[in-house]
Amino acid sequence: MSYSTRQREAILNTLRRADRPLTPQEIREGANADSAGIGLATVYRALKTFMARKEVLLVEIPGNPPCYEPADRGHHHHFVCDRCRHIFDLRGCVQDLDTLVPRDFSVQRHDITLYGVCAACGTGEG
Ligand SMILES: [Zn+2]
Ligand SMILES: [Zn+2]
Repeated sequence: MSYSTRQREAILNTLRRADRPLTPQEIREGANADSAGIGLATVYRALKTFMARKEVLLVEIPGNPPCYEPADRGHHHHFVCDRCRHIFDLRGCVQDLDTLVPRDFSVQRHDITLYGVCAACGTGEG
């Protein structure tokens, strides 16, 4: 074990503090505020460990770099900003998805991603 518990805790705390999924680079920057000297290799190694323990989930959205979030956030969906590419957590869910599928089909689960422009990137003018 070539990296410390303290570094792993800094990485997990960074994910918990964030209100959205983070890229490994963002995790590295956040974790270094808690515990200096954390490199990307350490971040990836810690993420692998956390995912094996099901403490952290990979958020894969086509066209976006892989992001990570704590596994205990429950059922939620994501919003992707087409400008800054940040992924945001959404609250709530969509009702009545059963009405979209043919009769006698049964919806078991769903995966919804919304796309648009975040507040920081403006309202789409200009
Ligand atoms: Zn944005
Ligand atoms: Zn949902």
